[in-house]
Amino acid sequence: MLLNKSEFLFNRAQQFIPGGVNSPARAFKSVGGIPVFFNKAKGSIITDEDGNEYIDYVGSWGPMILGHAYPPVVKAVQDASFNSTSFGAPTEIEINMAELVQRMVPNVEKVRMVNSGTEACMSAIRVARGYTGKEKIIKFEGNYHGHGDAFLIKAGSGALTLGQPSSPGVTKGTAKDTLNADYNNLESVEKLLKENKGDVAAIILEPVAGNMGCIPPEPGFLEGLRELCNRHEAVLIFDEVMTGFRLARGGAQERFDVWADLVTFGKIIGGGLPVGAFGGKKDIMDVVAPMGPVYQAGTLSGNPLAMSAGLAQLSALENHPEYYVELEEKTEYLEKRMRLLLNEHEIDYDMHRVGSMTSIFFTSETVTNFSTANTTNQELFRIFFHEMLNRGVYLPPSPFESWFLANSLTYEMLDATLTAADEALEVAKAK
Ligand code: PMP
Repeated sequence: MLLNKSEFLFNRAQQFIPGGVNSPARAFKSVGGIPVFFNKAKGSIITDEDGNEYIDYVGSWGPMILGHAYPPVVKAVQDASFNSTSFGAPTEIEINMAELVQRMVPNVEKVRMVNSGTEACMSAIRVARGYTGKEKIIKFEGNYHGHGDAFLIKAGSGALTLGQPSSPGVTKGTAKDTLNADYNNLESVEKLLKENKGDVAAIILEPVAGNMGCIPPEPGFLEGLRELCNRHEAVLIFDEVMTGFRLARGGAQERFDVWADLVTFGKIIGGGLPVGAFGGKKDIMDVVAPMGPVYQAGTLSGNPLAMSAGLAQLSALENHPEYYVELEEKTEYLEKRMRLLLNEHEIDYDMHRVGSMTSIFFTSETVTNFSTANTTNQELFRIFFHEMLNRGVYLPPSPFESWFLANSLTYEMLDATLTAADEALEVAKAK
């Protein structure tokens, strides 16, 4: 049988790259099959190595809010590259970026650029620990904050205070300082705070969870965490790597009007180049070196190409508030019609949408946290995913990932997606 190009490339990749990929989420592990290798994209159409075109709902896992190869981003990168790809010294564009972030997210009084969301979250908890002089952090089961050691911990059931590493290579010493709470459950947080009185430096969370499918915060959850952090003198960290500059100019903070002490960014802030950032209140950020004693650094941090790409994309979002309105209308259009289809096909589901993030859970449960997310029928998703892929729709290859819509999606593309979904659901339920 003749291999298609993705099969051929995946075979080659596996010889030299662990699992054939440079990040596990793209490996099709939970849906099976061969990951599609792409070589170009424009707007919301992404093209594979065999020349097949797909409507893209991954958007590089979030950054491409205005579509691929967005002309101002492409031009900014081209222009910047002529003047050198890196200086490792201060540049004016970094100040422009910091000022722009502050205008869009007003409580980010100072911001430090890094190269990924992982780095941003790792640095934010170090800063919180340095600032408070406390060592433990509370995170939520099913939230993802990158692959820093402190985040790769899953609490053993019944032993919430004694974290167990969920990846070999993470030490027990690290695990004991990470406490896991239940998303949308303030009581579980209060319990941990009580059991670890005076030891909790920070609570970190995705204000809208996007890494166990899309799960919104229940009313009062974010407000409750804000209040608990005030009461226990812990730093509230919103991980806005997915939600930042997506759910509104000021991200989830603006959308829910709950303001954290520190915020982490990634994805959109770099326009598709490797960028992350963490920032927040001046008195907290001033503990960061060289101003303060908490060390944090990066040879390529504030890189001119990355800053140029990010600045071009963020400027477009700042100057065009209507983009957020259009994007929300498109996502709502898709959500409403997708619900109708799921109802017509009599498939058990729960579906969430916040702004331009959405996802479907094939379950009869109401999904509010990690354990209810896990009731989703993964086999049904696997079939649905491949049927959609075969019909030219590229969804995130996992039932536990949010779909990210881009404003480059047209209503024709949304309608084509719905037609594909109608057929895919018909096949999925028959199997
Ligand atoms: N935080 C969140 C909420 C994320 O979704 C991700 C990545 N998907 C990260 C942190 C880590 O970012 P990166 O992959 O850029 O290291």
